[in-house]
Amino acid sequence: MATSIVEKFHSMEYGPAPEDPGEVNKWLDAHQRTFGHYINGAWTAVGSSKFETRNPATGEVLARVAQADAADIDRAVKAARAALPGWQALTGHQRARYLYAFARQVQKWSRRLAVLESLDNGKSIRESRDIDIPLVARHFYYHAGWAQLLGDLTPTGFDGEEFRGYTPVGVVGQIIPWNFPLLMFAWKVAPALAAGNTVVIKPAEFTPLTAIAMAEIAAEVGLPKGVLNVVNGAGETGAALVEHPDIDKIAFTGSTEVGRIIRKATAKTPKKLSLELGGKSPFIVFDDADLDSAVEGLVDGIWFNQGQVCCAGSRLLVQERVAERLYDKIRARMETLRVGSPLDKAIDIGAIVDQVQYDRITKLVAMGIAEGATCWQPEIPMPKNGLFLKPTLLTDVHPSSTVAQQEIFGPVLASMTFRTPAEAVELANNTPYGLAACVWSENINVALDVAAQVKAGVVWINSTNLFDAACGFGGYRESGYGREGGKEGMYEYLVPAWTKNAQKAEVVTQAATDSPKADGNGSGPGIDRTVKQYIGGKQARPDSGYSFPVYNREGKLVGEAPLGNRKDIRNAVEAARPAGNKWAKTAAHTRAQVLYYIAENLIQRREEIVRKLSEFVGEAQAQVEFDSSVDRAFTYAAWCDKFEGSVHNPPFRMVTLAMKEAIGTVAILAPDDAPLLGLLSLVLPAVAMGNSVVAVPSERCATLIGDLYQVFDTSDLPGGVVNLVAGRPMELGKTLAEHDDVDAVWSFRDEAAAAMVKLGSTGNLKQVWTNEGRAIDWFHPKQSQGLWYLQHATQIKNIWVPYGE
Ligand code: NDP
Repeated sequence: MATSIVEKFHSMEYGPAPEDPGEVNKWLDAHQRTFGHYINGAWTAVGSSKFETRNPATGEVLARVAQADAADIDRAVKAARAALPGWQALTGHQRARYLYAFARQVQKWSRRLAVLESLDNGKSIRESRDIDIPLVARHFYYHAGWAQLLGDLTPTGFDGEEFRGYTPVGVVGQIIPWNFPLLMFAWKVAPALAAGNTVVIKPAEFTPLTAIAMAEIAAEVGLPKGVLNVVNGAGETGAALVEHPDIDKIAFTGSTEVGRIIRKATAKTPKKLSLELGGKSPFIVFDDADLDSAVEGLVDGIWFNQGQVCCAGSRLLVQERVAERLYDKIRARMETLRVGSPLDKAIDIGAIVDQVQYDRITKLVAMGIAEGATCWQPEIPMPKNGLFLKPTLLTDVHPSSTVAQQEIFGPVLASMTFRTPAEAVELANNTPYGLAACVWSENINVALDVAAQVKAGVVWINSTNLFDAACGFGGYRESGYGREGGKEGMYEYLVPAWTKNAQKAEVVTQAATDSPKADGNGSGPGIDRTVKQYIGGKQARPDSGYSFPVYNREGKLVGEAPLGNRKDIRNAVEAARPAGNKWAKTAAHTRAQVLYYIAENLIQRREEIVRKLSEFVGEAQAQVEFDSSVDRAFTYAAWCDKFEGSVHNPPFRMVTLAMKEAIGTVAILAPDDAPLLGLLSLVLPAVAMGNSVVAVPSERCATLIGDLYQVFDTSDLPGGVVNLVAGRPMELGKTLAEHDDVDAVWSFRDEAAAAMVKLGSTGNLKQVWTNEGRAIDWFHPKQSQGLWYLQHATQIKNIWVPYGE
């Protein structure tokens, strides 16, 4: 160790630079290091049920915190419900001022909050001070802006220029993890309050203190009581919040496993749900990348926050030719990383949050080694006590090994090589997750091409782990759904105002399918030919060999429809998947042309379709329904090349391209009322946005698909983009909801169907969108077409592109 100044100057060794925790200790002592819940603007007394929160760097108990039970949750939810009318009666400007005041207080208390966060979580003060806290303030400022622009709430929704016609979802339950306690608090609370909701939030058991400090700030800024409630506790407290019947929305960030539990727990309720879950994000380095920059990117990608980051670049994919060179550089850089006290301003890696997480990481590394990986760790000084782990590089990792597939959530980089860009994309997508990705290449064409192909909600080009309130964040696939931040994040806390007063949808249960007939030609007098399923652009006999009779509204037989089963669904999904991949890449102009042809060909067959539709809904409705269907086809043809992404200007030398991408294969359960218009109102926006569809039409009017496939066949719609499978919607819907190759499921039938698809969706956590059993006026464009539909037919990928030298 260098002793003189001159020696130190030459060695550039760091001395300790500890941040003073005195202010935070004073604050903790002032509260006797004991905290209750913040409910209805007041602190609850701390009873016998409490837990300890510790400093993971030292093991010292920082405070004792009350553990909420179901009764506490109930009090908090009641307070939030009671506060709702008053909060919503404020003007947008008044709500904006509260959010603005939050931002100002966060800045005022920034050092105290940063130190408290580092003490409770173990993250380095450099990160909490320079990254977390500024982002927290930015989130409140940004959302103060949305509150202002939303304007005032009227019975028909907000009256501002933005989000007109939308209304707050209501009382929101929020559950956040321990890795970014304060940042996640801001990501959840700021948009929810800006959108006129009231909140009950549960921080993680390991890290409750900064949420408690934020509750104090709520009191300081005079936030009306009950608007924000903070309840503490572990998983059971979270579960009680999820299950409370008077919650309108749950917003969750955490593990995919708990995300699944929450999806199941809310399935039978109309609770809106957003899930920000785990990841195994690829960090792709091409041979033309600036390798030194890529190494610095990796430091931020996997050693930031001790690797306890949902979007950590935990899978290094490096082009074979430069792999050894890059590994050498990484190892050299790892030798300079400093692990130590989180309060030391000169350290890079702090403490792991808890012994449980520490053990989990070490166990996974041991598994990786047992499965053939080579483990390398630098020879660097390590603290003697506390939960500190060395930065770790695993090479020779097999793509299927545990450390390549499972989220380690620690300072561990698992590395693999690739040869071609196509192989890089294949490896990158070889995971059930889809949260983030980094692409390093000096060739912008290659980088953007790969960014477009990677299935991830965020892609950083030649950069990593950048966040901004204006740029939405969230996952594809099993990394969850919904976005946080940006305009899209606001929609998570809003619903179209008309849905609040909608009636229950009526579903006609068709007894006919209970008595299937052998699939014949249906050629009795006055009976149309038996229609077939429509799969892969071809008419297909049902696998069951059965059809079912379809009757008109007088009970007279009008035809026979195929009785679909699991195999028909499997075939339809198999056809839809590749067709959708191509269709998503088809130019928007071409997709529009196809939709116009569909309209044209519908018109050509007007007389016949109206005649058949009249059998089910009567002549008057059939005329209107048909004409509205044509109108709808024109509408979505128009939207094809207009529902576009946007470009954000985050406060760095970056542009962020918010691209609207197709979701993939969308399963649709169509409504019974307005059998033609209802079906097309769902199929057309999905197709317009580049998805492929497997749709189950209304059972009682299932013969209509015979007319539709003739229209599709003559409209240049590529085979497999729309597949129609008739049968029992509940049965076929279950198969679709459980199918791992379906990316989203939409149910527009009754409450039972909505619950069924939500339950079925948990396997691959596919996106679910339902009417919650509410009736939709398919003849009223405000309810049945437009942005609401287009938003659900797309997911936003934010691609961050740097500029400048
Ligand atoms: P969890 O998903 O268990 O925790 C996230 C939050 O959910 C916490 O507030 C937790 O409470 C709460 N919670 C736990 N169980 C339930 C439940 N049944 N119903 C409602 N809420 C619940 O993550 P862990 O903290 O256990 O971490 C485990 C792993 O998850 C990590 O190793 C990491 O791989 C991953 N993870 C991913 C995160 C991400 O952002 N993607 C964040 C955190 C973890 P409490 O913590 O108080 O028990």
